[in-house]
Amino acid sequence: MNENLPKNSKPLIYYTLIAMVIITLLNALVFPLLLERPVIEVSYSDFLDMLEQGSITNVNMQEAQIVFEAAEKDGALQIYKTGIWPDENLLDRLREAKVTFSNAIPTQNSPLLNFLISWIFPILFFLFIGRLLMNSLSKRMGGNMMSFGKSGAKVYVPAQTGKTFADVAGQDEAKEALAEIVDFLHNPAKYAAIGAIMPKGALLVGPPGTGKTLLAKAVAGEANVPFFSISGSEFVEMFVGMGAAKVRDLFKQAYDKAPCIVFIDEIDTIGKKRDGISSISGNDEREQTLNQLLSEMDGFDGRKGVVILGATNRPETLDKALLRPGRFDRRIPVELPDLKGREDTLKVHAKSIQAAKDVDYLAIAKATPGASGAELANILNEAALRAVRMGRDIVNQNDLEESVEVILAGYQRKNAVLTPNEKKIVAYHEIGHALVAARQSSAAPVHKITIIPRTSGALGYILQMDDSESDRVLLTKEEVISKITTATGGRAAEMLVFGTATTGAANDIEQATKLARAMISRYGMSDQFGMVALEAVTNQYLGGDASLICSPETASKIDGEVVELVGRCLKSAEELLKQNTQKLRELAEFLYEKETLTGEEFMRMLAR
Ligand code: ADP
Ligand code: ZN
Repeated sequence: MNENLPKNSKPLIYYTLIAMVIITLLNALVFPLLLERPVIEVSYSDFLDMLEQGSITNVNMQEAQIVFEAAEKDGALQIYKTGIWPDENLLDRLREAKVTFSNAIPTQNSPLLNFLISWIFPILFFLFIGRLLMNSLSKRMGGNMMSFGKSGAKVYVPAQTGKTFADVAGQDEAKEALAEIVDFLHNPAKYAAIGAIMPKGALLVGPPGTGKTLLAKAVAGEANVPFFSISGSEFVEMFVGMGAAKVRDLFKQAYDKAPCIVFIDEIDTIGKKRDGISSISGNDEREQTLNQLLSEMDGFDGRKGVVILGATNRPETLDKALLRPGRFDRRIPVELPDLKGREDTLKVHAKSIQAAKDVDYLAIAKATPGASGAELANILNEAALRAVRMGRDIVNQNDLEESVEVILAGYQRKNAVLTPNEKKIVAYHEIGHALVAARQSSAAPVHKITIIPRTSGALGYILQMDDSESDRVLLTKEEVISKITTATGGRAAEMLVFGTATTGAANDIEQATKLARAMISRYGMSDQFGMVALEAVTNQYLGGDASLICSPETASKIDGEVVELVGRCLKSAEELLKQNTQKLRELAEFLYEKETLTGEEFMRMLAR
């Protein structure tokens, strides 16, 4: 079969068929009425009368009828017809009335015009409509169907990316690795002279929102070269064979503009590992696109100054062929920002908003471990929006703190109805967490506790803040256990005070289970298994799902140990709370009244 036949040719055929049927119907039914002027049928005697009156100008004898033209009173011409009558005198009468007569059809248009009107115009009309439809269709699908084979890459002239490394906070290692590429683009001749070949491509890998696109733009901005940007998903389109054509076109455009940067976002969508199954499931399209990309990368002259930057957050799924020397052989990690990186990111974005002089960005950075650059930018914007809502023209610390909570937990649900009893349970639950955390020396201090329901569904939560100067990278076994214990503190408090469990602990349970499982299967912290990897992380940048790599028997043993470990932690949380029942009640009642407790208030009451 022809590989290049559009996959969607079926709808096209249907469309053509329907158009043909409509045109034929128009020709048979509608056009005759439009083209021929209405004809009035009269009796033969009326015809003779009109002939005598001299109003008839033109008579046309046809096989079974006489068609004639007569002037109306107002001078307009009207066509009539009448049946044939055996009338020998007709010829004389006509001569007498001095009308022109013939047997040609008076109303007939030229055959060419008829053909144009009945066939060419409708076809043009349908082509026009079809094009309109296709355009709106392809616009909705994000591609451009009519420009088959065009890459559709957005081209930015140098000034338009407008980004430099100064716009990228933190990520110093990545910037360093990219600085060489910038230098190369500035001066390819220098590298050519010494015979050095620059890497053709570099792969930016890291979680979403960490600034991979931003870095690529900054490279183009720093080197002052054009920036081509396309997303991997744009290659895999509605028509088979189009992806490969797009790749070809993209590289052709890039050559013309060299030196330049070609940025391919989400490269994993085309660069996925090729396997035997894919050809059955109809993935040849992706494979063809990938092959085209590989051959383009192999084919082009590295000294020309075209640098391809790819970005992905699923590096483990990439086809090995993409990572071979001469292709994306440099791998540049773009990680989530650490404390300093978060502070810097906030400050970079704070330049574009009106913020109070005394805003403490470090405090915000401390409250947002694990947040990506994109989330931090979002927090600042959310704070600015809040300031406007409050009728202020400057963003203050409060706006920022509230916006951290909005980003982390959703908006306050002002109209959420909690019965007083539910509210009490939530208060005890949250204090349970906080108390258990505070009573285990190694647990992070509490920053804020609230029981104001959030749109995310959280009924209350604790903002924990790490006070150490940088993010914790290493956790000891004891610290992991105390984390699990803290997670079980909410349920423990509910059980202790109300004697029953509620559904509110679902998140805690998930968190505790995850940690316990990781301890056993990945961190080598169980006595039974020791330092044996029992799980492999499948996508480290997207939530870090893990899959078991052990026998089913071992898997069930792991399950057993997880149950046992979490159970033990719950026991010790209950133990801790039992010893502090008085404090638990005091704090929970206080929180119930006030709905929000700061870290200091909490510690003060605890110390009393
Ligand atoms: P990615 O491509 O890694 O998913 P982006 O580059 O699209 O992430 O980042 C999205 C937005 O987040 C950027 O436009 C920028 O506003 C912000 N951002 C992310 N990382 C940083 C950073 N390191 N410094 C400044 N802003 C950042
Ligand atoms: Zn909880």
